[in-house]
This record gives sequence, structure tokens and C-alpha cells, in this order.
Amino acid sequence: AANNQNSSPTTTKPTKTSLSPDSMINLDQGDPTLFEPYWRKMGDKCTVVIEGCDLMSYFSDMSSICWFLQPQLGDAIKRLHRVVGNAVTEDRHIVVGTGSTQLLMAALYALSSPADRHPVSLVAAAPFYSGYKEQAEFLRSGLYKWEGDARAFEKDGPYIEVVTSPNNPDGVIREAVVSRGEGKLVYDLAYYWPQYTPITQPLDRDIMLFTFSKCTGHAGSRIGWALVKDKEVARKMTEYMQISSIGVSKESQIRAAKILGVLSEGCQHFRTVDSENFFEYSHSILKERWERLRNVVKNSKTFTLPKYPRDYCNFNGKYMDSNPAFAWLHSKEDIDWESRLREHKIIARSGERFGASPKYARISMFSPPEAFNLFLERFSAIIDNINGKR
Ligand code: PMP
Repeated sequence: AANNQNSSPTTTKPTKTSLSPDSMINLDQGDPTLFEPYWRKMGDKCTVVIEGCDLMSYFSDMSSICWFLQPQLGDAIKRLHRVVGNAVTEDRHIVVGTGSTQLLMAALYALSSPADRHPVSLVAAAPFYSGYKEQAEFLRSGLYKWEGDARAFEKDGPYIEVVTSPNNPDGVIREAVVSRGEGKLVYDLAYYWPQYTPITQPLDRDIMLFTFSKCTGHAGSRIGWALVKDKEVARKMTEYMQISSIGVSKESQIRAAKILGVLSEGCQHFRTVDSENFFEYSHSILKERWERLRNVVKNSKTFTLPKYPRDYCNFNGKYMDSNPAFAWLHSKEDIDWESRLREHKIIARSGERFGASPKYARISMFSPPEAFNLFLERFSAIIDNINGKR
């Protein structure tokens, strides 16, 4: 059985990054490997042993709507939300997915009506996560149609709005912007965890998407989950998963259940035991990075970063700042910053990909320490250079 024996798993040790002064620094993707040292420190606590005869069936729990959800993962998810206080899980159906990426597709399928003559409109307020447009347009589905910025959306008829909160790319806490009777909402709460933002209330929406990737940093396990109020919507999301991949890897589910369990355990004792709390650890890394970046940007007459309100975090029991996973850099100068930064060997993602102006660039705060240091050095030099020219 999958358990916590002391044999060591086959792991791929991270490749050491040795950046030279000529290296490109890739801050395009949000690959959360910066949390790796914490999980290394946890040693065997998170080890899962899976024998050759384990987990062979397609099926997990036929009494659950999501019949391929491993019960221990469902339990670990509910416990974690209870401990953190970021989402209501009572009377919800949990649907597990291969990342929240697959769950968004499942939600689009569940909320559209094949019998309708016209595709349902899909919108998100700009700047929106670039993945939504890519996913919605990739297979040219006739069920839904990407209509872009929710603030500019004026079409009649049914629509789906994705509300990303805190938002990727700009870290802002959001509510829906189109509010009409025929609308359906999908809340993408990938970053609603205490390392990124104060947890102000347990959210209670009809469809809420979460991902293991951004919660603990285990993007490679490809586990996401949806908390779904309506039984029929949960059933249709499960049907989508059944047709597209006949379920979700059980090895991944078992590992996620184990790690989420260790995470919840660490949170419950953190005020008494010598800090083993993952959220405190990850928050302190991001906070330090944001302070260093803000120190560099404050010398600039060209660049600005968003400011976030301090808020009371129910999880931490104190006022906290937001330290988003991405820096949404704005420049006064009418320059395509993705191209300009690339000339300085920094790969960022242009504002245009998020439905905004190229005067914005998104920079991942998740890079390995060496890359982040080199980025700050290069970015300081760019700022000094611009300042000097004035
Ligand atoms: N939603 C948002 C807002 C994201 O930033 C990401 C990852 N970058 C995802 C969903 C997808 O995450 P995953 O598929 O790894 O769960």
C-alpha cells in the first residue's frame, strides 16, 4: 500500500543552475521550484511508497460523483481548506483534475449547452491569465468562444466569466465585472493562499478552482481540484475528465494527499512548535524578494509596481502585505518591454499576452535564487542607464 515507509523514492535532483554573465534569465513562466528547500528539509515525512501491485484500477470510489478521486486526497483537501480558512468545503463536490488547467476546460464543458445554436461567450477582465485564451481557442470548440476583456464585453446572451483572485498577472483581489442574469462564474483561486495574499474570508462560490502547483509548489504532480456546489455541474465536469483522460493519475493523487496532509499538520502546530509551517516559510521568501525588487524600482522614474492594501489575514492572525507570484511592471515609456528586456537577457512576458499594453511586462517571482539575483542586478543597470540619460 501507499504509505510512509523509510525507503527513499527515486527522485530527480534539481539541476544546479550555474548562470554566467551571458546567460539568459527566464522569468517568463511561473514554475514554483523556489519552495523546494522547504520540502527537502521535510525529508522522509512526505515520502510515499507505491508497490507494483498498487493503484492499478481506473476506479477509486464509485460512491463519489468524481469516481476517480482517491478518498484520501478528498479528505486532505477538505482538511487543508479548514485549516487555512480560504474556502468553504461543506456540501461541495470535489472534482480532481490534471492541474487546474484541465479543470477549467471541464468547467467550460459543464457550463455550456451543446443544444444552443451559438457558443457561450467566455470572458475575463484584462489583464487576464494568458492561458485562458490559449486553452479556449486551441481546439476551436463550437461550445464556447473567447471574447476577451470582460470590461469591454457587451454581447447579449449566456456567458462565462473567469474571475482570477488574486489575479495573474497583477496580484489584485477581484470580483466579477459583468453581472447579468445569464452569466456563470468560475473562480480561479490558484493564488488564494497565505504566502501570496492575506486570507480575509472563506470563499463560498459555485465553482472554485485550486491547484497543488501554486499551493505547495508541486507543479510537476499536475494535480488541481474544483469545489463545486451544483451536483449536475460536478457530474458534467467528471464526464469531461472521463472522456479526455479517463481520470487522473492515482500516484499523483496519493502523493498530493500525503504532502497536503503534512502541510496541514505543520500549520496546526506552528504557533507552538519551532516553525515548520510551509506558509510562513514561503511567505518570508516572497516578502524578501518583493522588498528587494521594490528597492530597485523606487530609484526609477520610469517603472512602477502595483501597490497592494495591507489586510488582516485570518490564517496568520495579523495584518499582512500581499506578495504575489508575479511582478506586473509598468513603464511610462512607450516601449515594448518584452523585447527591450530580452536585449538585456531577461525573458519576461509582454502585457499584450494578458490583454494589456506592451508597456507592461510580467516577471515571475518564482525563479531560482541565482536567477533572481542576476535579474535584480541587470534590472538595476537598466534603470541607472535610463536615469542617466535624462
Ligand atoms: N490558473 C492560473 C491563474 C495560473 O496562474 C495557472 C498556472 N500558471 C493555472 C491556472 C494552471 O495551473 P496548473 O495547471 O498547474 O494547475
